[in-house]
Amino acid sequence: MKLGLIAMSGVRAWSKELNDIGMTMPGVVERGKVIASMPTLSLLTLAALTPDDIEVSYHEVRDLRTHEGFDDHDFDLVAIASQSAQISDANTLAHHFRARGTRVIMGGIHVTSMPDEALQHADAIVTGEGEPVWPDVLRDARRKRLQKQYCADASFHLADAPIPRYDLLDIDRYNRLLIQTCRGCPHRCDFCASSILLVPGYTTKPAHRIRAELDAITSIWPHPFIELADDNSFASPAHTRAICSAFKDKGVRWFAETDVSIAQHPDLLDELRESGCRQVLLGLESPRTTGLDHIETRANWKLRQLSKYEHAVHTIQSHGITVNGCFVLGLDGDTPEVFDDIYNFADRTSLYDVQVSVLTPFPGTPLYNRLRAENRLLQPTEWSACTLFDVNFQPKHMTPDELQQGLVDLARRLYDPAFVLQRRQRFFDHARNRGWATPE
Ligand code: SF4
Repeated sequence: MKLGLIAMSGVRAWSKELNDIGMTMPGVVERGKVIASMPTLSLLTLAALTPDDIEVSYHEVRDLRTHEGFDDHDFDLVAIASQSAQISDANTLAHHFRARGTRVIMGGIHVTSMPDEALQHADAIVTGEGEPVWPDVLRDARRKRLQKQYCADASFHLADAPIPRYDLLDIDRYNRLLIQTCRGCPHRCDFCASSILLVPGYTTKPAHRIRAELDAITSIWPHPFIELADDNSFASPAHTRAICSAFKDKGVRWFAETDVSIAQHPDLLDELRESGCRQVLLGLESPRTTGLDHIETRANWKLRQLSKYEHAVHTIQSHGITVNGCFVLGLDGDTPEVFDDIYNFADRTSLYDVQVSVLTPFPGTPLYNRLRAENRLLQPTEWSACTLFDVNFQPKHMTPDELQQGLVDLARRLYDPAFVLQRRQRFFDHARNRGWATPE
């Protein structure tokens, strides 16, 4: 049997102005480009669970209009993974394969939240985590008796995940590779799709398993840059220690996404720096009380962290780890003053990098359901607008156009090269004093 694993990648914002800015201000699209150029770990993991007698290959589709060559492969079965923004292309591709007699499996967060929609396009779908049901999918595919839906129960533990098949990648195409060290998040933010939809709880991978994956990567790429494919890598200090121990003495530089609680542990920040952690994407969301109020739905946790934000950025950066502060525009408490507030926060704290995006109602999230109930979604099923940069809802205190234009104008100011250099200079000076190499 020939199995093709197909990742839809390369999200592009609708906003022409934002794309135009991206041509001249790399900061706007830097992170988007990095994300788009990373392989899809879930498919490489399924490849690792596929028996040797099945011929398996991994492919990325960035743009259907320019993509060619699939018809040469003659797959018996394809598995397509896609996020919301590219789901229309994924569906088109599914129909293309099915018309040729190739059976199509679809999965991922979007499919998990919209199973009925996905069933119109695929022979079978996987909802929830893929690992526990993949052997059943392959067994049924061999018998030519695929079920319509494979739904993971909650029994899978990340410690049992196999080492992803990094060897399937054309490694020269990538500037960083992914390792997943945990799934889920102890918090519940109402806009967060990944943490809420795919996994039943927060689970972690032990240090020896992380190290085994690192060894697999360094066997094919001796000095890679690694990104942790986690929702919230440092939510648990014990797990953070496990990550540090896995990376210790490996000579690898790496990046992670986290909440601000890591700043309360200076000893861990030292360990992180020593283990090669060079940047954290910090989910700040908003520098304002009105923005943060109730976006974390369990205990209003994010609002309670606001008074620690400036100190947290300073503490992390003073330990030699640059901070990419992540803000969401268009929260219900946001007024037009939010754009200046974010700019001033970045200035005051000397944030090394800043990421701004607009509130995005991904299907299945509490945010989507709330905005839909309030009749505030502009195009409720236009999933291609889920780019993180295109406004598809009615903000509370602005028009959609004001929010869209506010994002563009703020991006221009934040990524102005002189402002970027001014923010980074404090980090460079500190690094020089400590004898640390400065980031490239
Ligand atoms: S803290 Fe981050 S990962 Fe956790 S639920 Fe909120 S947005 Fe998602």
